Amino acid sequence: MPENSQKQNKLNGFAIEGGCLLVGGQPLTRLARRVGRTPFFAYDRTLIGQRVAELRRLLPDGVHLSYAVKANPMPAVVQHLSALVDGFDVASAGEMGTVLDTPMAAERISFAGPGKTRDELVQAIAAGITLNLESESEMESVAALGSEIEARPRVAVRVNPDFELRGSGMRMGGGAKQFGVDAERVPAMLKRIGELGLDFQGFHVFSGSQNLRAGAIREAQEKTAELVLELAEHAPGPVRMVNMGGGFGIPYFPQDQPLDLAAVGRGLSAVLPKLRDRLREARVVIELGRYLVGEAGVYVCRVVDRKISRDQVFLITDGGLHHHLAASGNFGQVLRRNYPVAIGNRLGGPAGGEGETEAVSVVGCLCTPLDLLADKVALPRAEIGDLVVIFQSGAYGLTASPAAFLGHPPPAEALV
Ligand SMILES: *Cc1c(COP(=O)(O)O)cnc(C)c1O
Repeated sequence: MPENSQKQNKLNGFAIEGGCLLVGGQPLTRLARRVGRTPFFAYDRTLIGQRVAELRRLLPDGVHLSYAVKANPMPAVVQHLSALVDGFDVASAGEMGTVLDTPMAAERISFAGPGKTRDELVQAIAAGITLNLESESEMESVAALGSEIEARPRVAVRVNPDFELRGSGMRMGGGAKQFGVDAERVPAMLKRIGELGLDFQGFHVFSGSQNLRAGAIREAQEKTAELVLELAEHAPGPVRMVNMGGGFGIPYFPQDQPLDLAAVGRGLSAVLPKLRDRLREARVVIELGRYLVGEAGVYVCRVVDRKISRDQVFLITDGGLHHHLAASGNFGQVLRRNYPVAIGNRLGGPAGGEGETEAVSVVGCLCTPLDLLADKVALPRAEIGDLVVIFQSGAYGLTASPAAFLGHPPPAEALV
């Protein structure tokens, strides 16, 4: 991305104007009025578009981008992405309904995930989307349901590879897993797919998530390509789709270095010819969730009280872990670390602060000590009514939070 020549003051990718954060070009204080209440999540459509453009520029031509809807299923976000990406991956009937409301073609939608119910399978077959089969028994059910409703199911095999994506936040392949079919069992399964007359599309290999190391991602992509080429020998028909997974991570914490996307792109350029040479009809798909939307979103809550307990300052907000479990450190983190945080209406100082700062802990309104949004961070002195902003909140925010816990209202959401 060309550097902004005016050297506009920015914080985590968001512009600042008159001491106030801009989201989608709007001052946060005004946006809060427009939304009508706090807390809320706001997603910046321009930042999402820029991220997709960066991927198009740095990944080899012809690689398809698929959005994993579970990262952020807000219908407006999904609608916005439908014009930018080449496909969607869903993991429930609910997500399937959301993507089928967009103009995305059914043949560009896949449905992965263990434990798909009979109703979900029927809906997916009727919609004509591709089912990423997670087990032999699921394959048999899909075939039976296809006969029952007189439709030929489109299927791909989700493979549990014999390797892991090193250094991932969450490992989803290698060893014994509830995801996919163990690679060594896939040849027999492919034979059976042929016997059952299913419409075979290809392979899905997803080995992990939240990875910031280009080298590890490249290694996984090389191994994935090798594995797919081996398995393709047993395919009951032409391989039309190879979903190589994704796992591209975003930096959450100060010591995190952003992923070197150009290096990932170079690795993929080296792997692609081998795949294309042998599998001429195959679309190569990279499937991304948080990398597309995570950095484009903020969570905003209001300071409702300020108190000092034994010399420690607490900013007590109307938000909390019931809206944003991940920021509280309770969604898969081993060590609790603070998400980037700011007082969105007090960004007047040179480093995005107002000069003087104080150490504070930002907490939510839930009656549990787990409800900690930022632990002992340096922030400009905040008053009741100020707006606390938590960055990197565009993925696994509301959708991954226990909204019913303690019975407070849900947050609002806006795509700006
Ligand atoms: C969760 C998931 C993704 C998205 O992971 P991100 O870390 O958000 O990119 C992609 N594919 C599958 C199969 C998943 O389960």
